[in-house]
Amino acid sequence: MSSNDIDPQHTVARHVLGTETFACVRCGLTVSALAPDGRRRNHCPSCLYSSHVLDQVEGGASECGSRMSPISIAVLRTGDWMLIHRCVRCDELTSNPVCGDDNQLILMRMAVRPLAEPPFPLEAFGTL
Ligand SMILES: [Zn+2]
Ligand SMILES: [Zn+2]
Repeated sequence: MSSNDIDPQHTVARHVLGTETFACVRCGLTVSALAPDGRRRNHCPSCLYSSHVLDQVEGGASECGSRMSPISIAVLRTGDWMLIHRCVRCDELTSNPVCGDDNQLILMRMAVRPLAEPPFPLEAFGTL
């Protein structure tokens, strides 16, 4: 048996010279698991996709392993931005802190989407 026989599903996270990296499930970017500010990250700073490797409901590892698309931004009472992911296969939702080098264009686009596409006519505010 050689180490090349490892199931590709389980080679996403690997140790390279002591630095943990993972390959983005969407764009293939090699991402350091540690953000510049020292916090662990689980999503790609370029396209913000993540993969479903942790079970948020039951805790521990998830069997799913599918990609998780960034769907929204949430702002905590502390002012920290959280990135909301939804798994494309099982629809589980996760939230993770936004990192300093995350793609700001995508973050802003998600943050303003509810304002850009309101479910009611904004003209109503003009007559208040
Ligand atoms: Zn990516
Ligand atoms: Zn899933």
